[in-house]
Amino acid sequence: MDLDLVFLGTSGSVPTARRGLAGTLVRRGGERMLVDCGEGTQRQLLRSTVGLIELPEVFLTHYHADHYLGLPGMLKTFALRGREVPLAVYGPPGLKDLFGGLQRIFGKLTYPIELVEVRDGDVLDRGDYRILVFRVSHGATANGYAFAEVPRPGRFDVEAAEALGVPAGPLFGRLQAGEPVELPGGGEVRPEQVLGEPRPGRKVVLTGDTAPAATVLEVAREADVLVHEATFAEEERERADETLHSTAAGAAAVAKAAEVRMLALTHLSNRYFGPEVAREAREIFPETVVPRDFDIIEVRFQERGGPRLVKAGARTAREEAEPHGRHGASGSGGGPHGGGGDPGDPALGGDPVGASPRGRAASRGAR
Ligand SMILES: [Zn+2]
Ligand SMILES: [Zn+2]
Repeated sequence: MDLDLVFLGTSGSVPTARRGLAGTLVRRGGERMLVDCGEGTQRQLLRSTVGLIELPEVFLTHYHADHYLGLPGMLKTFALRGREVPLAVYGPPGLKDLFGGLQRIFGKLTYPIELVEVRDGDVLDRGDYRILVFRVSHGATANGYAFAEVPRPGRFDVEAAEALGVPAGPLFGRLQAGEPVELPGGGEVRPEQVLGEPRPGRKVVLTGDTAPAATVLEVAREADVLVHEATFAEEERERADETLHSTAAGAAAVAKAAEVRMLALTHLSNRYFGPEVAREAREIFPETVVPRDFDIIEVRFQERGGPRLVKAGARTAREEAEPHGRHGASGSGGGPHGGGGDPGDPALGGDPVGASPRGRAASRGAR
């Protein structure tokens, strides 16, 4: 099962020409979960290979404007194109109050919206994975979210099963599912006789804004990827402390203590470009990356190589061509152009989940 993170916005507080405001898409199999929705997130989605899909779920970490101002616009766009599938928004207590105010902006929607207030310790059980809600250190009402898969069964040892006299067929399946089976000729075989050690599932932790926190360290223990904010570098340590943000070094110390496999720093202040932040963190925790907008982190199973950063992994060929100034300049290139919000605009309509709006990146189409 594919699991990855698409970085849609990696700037903190204010956008820059190259970095948008907070927004990270978690993709697992066919599921899509957006964590934070800063101003401009819907356009970042349109510009990416993901497209502006009918997101079923949005998770807000907290209610500072740089983390939710993209929501009213996106909700409105969905309504203009006649969306009918429900949307759930999760966030810390205060979500319903927030929406009381936002409603005046986006007006009536064409689809049901469910507001779910979640807090420290809440667990959303999704069968083969869970979403853990944990408190961070950024004022009273800020959540982080961890996506943690349940352990996978150990490898099935066919030779051991055959040696014990289990005939190939349905009994194999039952043993793999963890059930003991009766042999046709009498006797019982227990799953632990033919299964290896359970293999750990993957864990991805997103902190949202936070000062370095013990709660983060705890939940991030041995995570595959820790996405941690690093608004500042050490030179601005005092400011980071005052505003309950982290420095790159502070985030790296948490990653090191938690023994994560990869640290991804985001929410950079507009005075930093990335490399200086990466340099500072890597002195403490070498496995640090500082994704740019449209980078992807593929969270592969450990035995398949673990997490890896795919630079510009969600950038479309059209975007790559843009610096040459020849594409889309006249608006006649056939790409989506927004159409002034006309609900009949085919450019806005019905992108299937996971598909590129322009049919590119076919190899990603199945996610
Ligand atoms: Zn922020
Ligand atoms: Zn904040």
